[in-house]
Amino acid sequence: MSTTAAPGPMTGRERFMNALLGAPVDQTPVASPTSLATYEEMRRLGVEWPAAHYEAEPIALLAERSYTTHGYDSIMPYFSIILGAGALGAEIEWGKDPWEFDKSTGKIISGPRMPAVQPPNPWKTPDDIVIPNDFLERRDTKAVIDAVKILRERHPEAAVVGKVMGPWTLSYHMFGPQEFLINVILDPDYVHACLERLMPASIAFANAQIEAGADAICLADHSTGDLVRAETYRDFLMPVHQTITPQIDAPVILHCCGKTLDRMQYIKDAGFEAFHFATENDPHEAKAVVGDFKLVGNVSNFVTLLIGRPEDVAVEVEDIVSAGVDIIAPECAIPPQVTNANLAAVPAAARGAFEPDASVTDAKNLADEYRAQVAQQSAAASAGPALSL
Ligand SMILES: [Zn+2]
Repeated sequence: MSTTAAPGPMTGRERFMNALLGAPVDQTPVASPTSLATYEEMRRLGVEWPAAHYEAEPIALLAERSYTTHGYDSIMPYFSIILGAGALGAEIEWGKDPWEFDKSTGKIISGPRMPAVQPPNPWKTPDDIVIPNDFLERRDTKAVIDAVKILRERHPEAAVVGKVMGPWTLSYHMFGPQEFLINVILDPDYVHACLERLMPASIAFANAQIEAGADAICLADHSTGDLVRAETYRDFLMPVHQTITPQIDAPVILHCCGKTLDRMQYIKDAGFEAFHFATENDPHEAKAVVGDFKLVGNVSNFVTLLIGRPEDVAVEVEDIVSAGVDIIAPECAIPPQVTNANLAAVPAAARGAFEPDASVTDAKNLADEYRAQVAQQSAAASAGPALSL
């Protein structure tokens, strides 16, 4: 745990970097390596998706609210997961959905979706892989690089976190997840070749964001427990991560959703400064597995931030802090329907400054309940065949 007392007050940037590098901090760092964009902020700012995926100024306006308004130490300006694929030539469905409001309360029900890669899959074999010469100049990648530049200038005291997809996730986007994953069994050389040839794209995009002013990089590579076995991570992706991390010129945080306890030891050995982990993993157990390796997370998006009350968020955050998680954050890109009140409850609770509503007397750790439910279900299903590759 990196909450050893340090002379304060520190800037958010100092606090985040110290926590990442194992140096003392003045208070619990709260910083997200993934999106904190909400519909509420989009409406307030008059900035929305899809422009706030591929135009630097709207991206920066939406991203900086985490630091200027909600109490986080960080700003992270890449809200989706498809910009790297877009710059590699994938067709993107940008998600121009209409806003929908509850007629009686005016509450936002829905708005623009996250974009996705459109079928058909752009590539079929590793021989199709070409990283364009202007990869970093394309609208999708350039917008993030320029947003980092803007944010660095505007907020010298904030931690600016860049983000890229790793070669495993880029392979899902460019070859299709099923087509890619089946080759873990059918043709391991195909998988190795995809990872090998896509590595330079992840490294170049990361270093361009660092050059633009990012303090650290979140590398998202979704070798998640429901699709991929721990041994598959170890044999296919860990060596690739070990090659990538020293070539990125700043601390790198791996992000991977889902169950990951069984591979955290491998992730620790892959050269990352930290791991951003999800709610499926108990934070106390995770810390016991990784020891002094840094963890970032793991406030539940879907059971707590989306449907819980700020008081429930606070109970969960206090448990995560007590587990010794080094940097407190939502587990992944938050659903944009999350209210600003819940979003702001995370830093407030992490710092002991949360003020609960006196009328709420039954606040509880919804993530703990969720994990208990999942454990029960998977015990009941464990007689069936294992599907992960
Ligand atoms: Zn995720």
